[in-house]
Amino acid sequence: MSECLFCKIRDGEIPGDIVYENEYVLAFNDINPVAPIHILIIPKEHISTLNDLEKDHAQTMGEMFLAAKEIASKEGLSDSGYRTVFNCNEHGQQTVFHIHLHLIGGRQMTWPPG
Ligand code: 5GP
Ligand code: ZN
Repeated sequence: MSECLFCKIRDGEIPGDIVYENEYVLAFNDINPVAPIHILIIPKEHISTLNDLEKDHAQTMGEMFLAAKEIASKEGLSDSGYRTVFNCNEHGQQTVFHIHLHLIGGRQMTWPPG
């Protein structure tokens, strides 16, 4: 059994508020949203950090961004805009070590990020 939080959500061992799923990816609402819409898109395959990406993951990574585009459209964010973020390791403030694409929208963002 996996010790990874997001693998547990993938496997249904802990509940996830799932909004999208296909062969490659799963997406669910963030438990602590930083905006009106905050969805996490994960690969079904466990990959700990962006540093662990291999050439073989290229399709999965592409599927993550295609899922982001589709979910953003469903949520009505396409025209107003949104942000997609991968955090990596300590300086990136990654806290869950199964890569995930944050899809954040529904309010004006600022730049640079904190
Ligand atoms: P990171 O800081 O690693 O980029 O983002 C981890 C994200 O996972 C955070 O936004 C956090 O709120 C979210 N998160 C942590 N635990 C859970 C959980 O059990 N369920 C869900 N849906 N999100 C979680
Ligand atoms: Zn995992």
